[in-house]
Amino acid sequence: MPTELQPARGTHDLIGEDQRRHQFVIDTARRIAGIYGFDQWATPIFEDTRVFARTLGETSDVVMKEMYTFEDRGGDSITLRPEFTAGVCRALVSNGLTQSLPQKVFLAGPMFRYDRPQKGRYRQFHQIDIEVLGSAEPLADAEVITCGWEIIKALGISQQVVLELNTLGDKESRQAYRDALVAYFTEHQGALSQDSLERLDRNPLRILDSKDPGDRKLVADAPTITPYLTEAAGGFYEGVKRYLTLFGVPFRENPRIVRGLDYYGHTAFEFITTKLGAQDAVGGGGRYDGLVAEMGGPQVPAVGWALGVDRLALLLDGPPAAPAGVAVVPIGDTEAAALEIVQALRQAGIRAEMAYRGNLRRRMERANRIGARAAVIIGDDDIARGVAQVKDLQTGEQEAVALKDIPARLR
Ligand code: AMP
Repeated sequence: MPTELQPARGTHDLIGEDQRRHQFVIDTARRIAGIYGFDQWATPIFEDTRVFARTLGETSDVVMKEMYTFEDRGGDSITLRPEFTAGVCRALVSNGLTQSLPQKVFLAGPMFRYDRPQKGRYRQFHQIDIEVLGSAEPLADAEVITCGWEIIKALGISQQVVLELNTLGDKESRQAYRDALVAYFTEHQGALSQDSLERLDRNPLRILDSKDPGDRKLVADAPTITPYLTEAAGGFYEGVKRYLTLFGVPFRENPRIVRGLDYYGHTAFEFITTKLGAQDAVGGGGRYDGLVAEMGGPQVPAVGWALGVDRLALLLDGPPAAPAGVAVVPIGDTEAAALEIVQALRQAGIRAEMAYRGNLRRRMERANRIGARAAVIIGDDDIARGVAQVKDLQTGEQEAVALKDIPARLR
């Protein structure tokens, strides 16, 4: 017997309730993003590897360990996207849109990272994402965050999610802070994990992100960025907080938030939850003013976030209801009339199916199994009278309805 094939490690099928949860997250996000003035884009799932290698930076873990990169048949190096932002910036430049700013973009789709799979962490997962390209003002940061918060509220999970906010300052602030961190961690380097020792030279801010218990103890007493913020950077951060308060978005400041990627500055934030164990981040984002220029475009200030659809779907309370349609059940020689009813229902926009296998009992079982809310039963006598029996499958009530009135009756 051939071996039964399984989904590749770290991937999962979305079927039934899983798919409905997933789709509900995406539909809700698209609707709210639309209200906030975002237009949907779709960028390719794979890109020239340089799109990610150049922008995620040599020091980012995503580039170093997690990318699905391969040579295609033509010998080009291709990478399955690990995130949206780099592709969006590439698309902005490729489509000549750097002259039509700002652009407010919403995206949804699969991402790929070669990570160690566990609950809430997959190798193919899904993100929703918004980006504002071409706005340098703190109001843009606040609008982006508010839109994310409104999506979380509309999903009914805002009780389980906290917004944590930080600033990474401008280049000058970051340089001074970086020096302070290097000095601090160098003093304690005997207690640092091997990974963090390597980060010490390349990207000391990332040590703040470390999950290693020994590192975390050190991080607890590490300097924060606040005293190193320039006046301009401090003012920007105050602006973001003022607008968030104005929009009624609750947040908690967390000076330990850094983004793993190198092109972030100023605002950095995460939406976190206590409900998913180790995988506590449902999303995050920040400001990345230097990225488009690295893509070969002009200097375009930008801010955005990505939220994990799989994790949001896990947090949803009641699963969205399965669509309940109508089952049409012919008895005797009434197939043609039954098909006409099915067709009339579908034309009226009502989900409808014919249950035609087996005896009446089997047919009614089928109606229940497909989750029908009503059955339309039609026998030879009914045809003669120009009616069919409409049975409410919740209450069991049944009555004869004229054939032409059936779609209106079941709408
Ligand atoms: P990031 O781009 O790493 O900031 O991720 C943004 C969000 O995407 C995270 O907060 C998660 O909700 C989700 N995410 C990231 N990596 C994975 C993964 N491997 N599996 C499932 N969701 C993920």
